[in-house]
Order: sequence, then structure tokens, then C-alpha cells
Amino acid sequence: MTLLEGKPIAANIQEQIKARIKGLKSAPVLASIMVGDNPGAESYVKSQNKLAQALGIDYRFNKLPADTSEAGLLDIIKKLNADSSINGIIIQMPLPAQIDYKKISGFIAPSKDIEGMNPANIGKVLFGKAKILPCTAASCMELINATGIDLCGKEVVIVGHSEIVGKPLSLMLLDRLATVTVCHIGTSKAGKLEEHVRKAEILVVAVGKAGLIKGEWVRQGAAVIDVGINRVNDKIVGDVEFDEAQKRAGWITPVPGGVGPLTVTMLMRNVVEAAANGDR
Ligand code: NDP
Repeated sequence: MTLLEGKPIAANIQEQIKARIKGLKSAPVLASIMVGDNPGAESYVKSQNKLAQALGIDYRFNKLPADTSEAGLLDIIKKLNADSSINGIIIQMPLPAQIDYKKISGFIAPSKDIEGMNPANIGKVLFGKAKILPCTAASCMELINATGIDLCGKEVVIVGHSEIVGKPLSLMLLDRLATVTVCHIGTSKAGKLEEHVRKAEILVVAVGKAGLIKGEWVRQGAAVIDVGINRVNDKIVGDVEFDEAQKRAGWITPVPGGVGPLTVTMLMRNVVEAAANGDR
């Protein structure tokens, strides 16, 4: 069994990012907006800021009061869209109840949408033409690539069909000619989750429920990418029963330490991609 750790893969991609930045006319600029206080979001902002600095990306953080209105946030986004010195915009989650993330994120200019969530960018994923990919789905793809498995015709099972992971990843894998099954709450309700998971040569789980995937369901030699983050008895664990799964898997991501360390790197890769396009 090979442990698929995110850090060495991220380090390699970070070197490529630094090399690309050297070829740009000026340092890429990332505008980050946080509304209100949230300890989780603050720690994510810290790691974004730290990596941005290490890579040579100008990270401009804007903190807004918790009672900021949706219209107020939209005004700021419009100004950032119009500001040619800004290459990428990220809105930190969660947002206060008065702001609808789906609505707001649709207003970020596609060329500055470095989370890859604007419908225009998602549309490019459908056509296999996207240069800016949703960060978590892109992280899963990098981990799968690191196994060296030829995806053509492989049975890939994704558990979870969210807009940020399962749905875009399924399109990215189809583009590589994998046979993709996407499981979700309906699959579990129908009592068919185990049946699908057992046939997976590559299994990606992004649900947020500790122990949802029993270790004994994992197919011998499978690659297991566990995206889930769950706090259990003060420990962070994934969605897959790691101890049992690792006895059967050919490759498996640790939680923490698998997908997580790659996600911020994917964000920075998108910032540089956005800046490089603006440079042309
Ligand atoms: P969402 O809540 O948006 O999606 C969860 C998905 O799981 C939904 O498609 C849901 O289906 C499905 N689901 C829920 N219960 C079951 C079940 N019993 N059986 C099968 N499917 C089920 O979560 P996210 O995609 O945002 O995140 C998923 C996990 O990944 C979380 O733990 C999150 O913290 C983690 N995460 C980790 C990241 C990292 O960098 N490591 C980044 C992003 C997320 P339905 O909607 O139909 O109910």
C-alpha cells in the first residue's frame, strides 16, 4: 500500500507555479474577501496568505463587517472586477445568512474566478477546455495522477455529488475515458452504496460523514481518495475507515495530509493561470 500524501505533490506544483510567475510581467494579485468572523475561515485565510507570500503572489485581504448586505458585497465585487490590477477574487466561506453565495459567486468575472465556480468556467469543464478548475476536484485529480493509473476504462466511483467536488470531478474523469459512477444520498437510501463502492478501482469519497465507507468494502488494490474532513473525539478523520481500508487499498490518502494540503496550491495555480491570461 502506498500512502498518497498531498504535501510532496503540492511542493512539486508550487515549483512550477514559481517558475510561471517568473515569466509574468508583474506579480499576480489575489483579492480575498471575508465577511464577519469565523475561526475556520481565518485559519484558511492564514494558509492562503502564507503560501501566496512564499510563491510571490500579492495577497490583498479585505475583511468586511458581519452585517454587510448582499448589495454592499456585490458593489465591492464589481469594483474588483473592474480593477485591472486584480487577477483573482476569492470569497471566504461561510458567509452570513443575508448573503447567497451562489448568487454572489456568479458575479465574479469568469476571468477572475479562481475558485472555478462561475457557471462560465464550469461550462468549460463540461467541454474539457477548462484552464481554471474547481480547486478540490483538481486536488483529487492530481492525487489520482500521482498513482500513475491509466484511467481509460477504469471503474471510478465518486461518493458525493456536490458542485465543488463530485460533479466537476466526474466530468474531468469522463474526459480521461474513465467509467464513472457518482453515488449520493439517493444511492445510500436505496441501500446500494456498498455494491458500488466494492467495484471501484478508484474510489473518491467527499461526503463529510466519518466511517460512511467501511474498510472492508474497499476493492483489493484500489486507489482511495478521501476528501472528507470530520472531527471525532478531537481528531480529524475522513469518510473512509482508514485502518481497515489501508489493508486492502493499493493507494490511500491520509486524513489529514491527503487532499487538504493540495487545495490551497490549486487555488494559487488558478491565480497564476488567471494572471497569465491577463498578460496576453
Ligand atoms: P456537501 O455537503 O456539499 O456534499 C456532500 C455530498 O455527500 C452531497 O452530494 C450529499 O448528497 C452526499 N451525501 C450525504 N450523505 C450521504 C450518504 N449517506 N451517502 C452518500 N452520499 C451522501 O459537502 P462538500 O462537497 O462541500 O464536502 C464534502 C466533504 O469534503 C466535507 O467533509 C468537507 O469538509 C470536505 N472538504 C474537504 C476539502 C479539502 O481540501 N480536504 C475541501 C472541500 C471539502 P445530497 O446533497 O444529495 O444530500
